Amino acid sequence: MKIIVLGAGAGGGFPQWNCNCPNCQLARSGVPEAPSLTQSSLAVSADGKRWVLLNASPDLRRQIELNPALHPSGPGRSSPIAGVVLCNADVDHTAGLLTLREMQPLAVYGTGRVIGVLAANAMFNVMDSKLVERRAMPLETPFPFLDRDGQPLGLTVQAFAVPGKVALWLERPEEKNFGSIPEDTVGLKITDDATGSSFFYIPGCAAMPDDLAKRLNGAELVLFDGTTFTDDEMITAGFSAKTASRMGHMAMTGAEGSLAALGRLSIGRRIYVHINNTNPALLRNSAERRLIEASGWEVGFDTMEIVL
Ligand SMILES: [Zn+2]
Repeated sequence: MKIIVLGAGAGGGFPQWNCNCPNCQLARSGVPEAPSLTQSSLAVSADGKRWVLLNASPDLRRQIELNPALHPSGPGRSSPIAGVVLCNADVDHTAGLLTLREMQPLAVYGTGRVIGVLAANAMFNVMDSKLVERRAMPLETPFPFLDRDGQPLGLTVQAFAVPGKVALWLERPEEKNFGSIPEDTVGLKITDDATGSSFFYIPGCAAMPDDLAKRLNGAELVLFDGTTFTDDEMITAGFSAKTASRMGHMAMTGAEGSLAALGRLSIGRRIYVHINNTNPALLRNSAERRLIEASGWEVGFDTMEIVL
């Protein structure tokens, strides 16, 4: 199984269009210690020929061009991309669906909640329903990823609810946790049917309850939410009144952070993705980067390839 990190950045990417923070300034200057990141997405393939996108970011067009495995290869129009599995309805995970118009057969999987959000937004109808099938995926029950014509790709998907919240643009301020339900935010376990190898992809996760820790313990590979380094990072930077946990993300550090929570688990390889532009661990020469690398973590980057 091959995995490509198409985008290791969080929503907004790195640098973010309207941000002039020290990190974003460095990224714009092009120095090697601050490599730019596009927004949150992976691609996975069992055979290296046909690919499934895990989330479709607003940067998808650029991500496809940066990764030759995703280029069309036949005569005329075609794509090795067979479809998409969505983790939530965030803009950084769904807006790329609009890039996938232009008459390609695709299968798009999301929870019933996320498929309902797509249905309620008429702009997504640019993905012609005669060619693109939207499929509601169950929580917990593993299922084979099937292309639009029902052909398996040799990958089994299991979606499971993780702590989080509904997408920002769907928040209902008057309701508990902004009206979030379990189907709003899921993690994915992807298994290669031929080899039995598997990995977890959890780009958004607000906490690490015991059942989730138990699920991840013993994993070969986990790609995990690395949005912020500290919980109050956006407040300290003066950009937001919201903590990371208010935004549905665990910080890397702190008693409730991912370094501590996943540090107690046996995991073969652990990689941060969905990294916000304010996170000092983005900088390759930072003390924060050294700290997380000393804890056994890697920081994902665009075009990173992993073979399991
Ligand atoms: Zn910034």
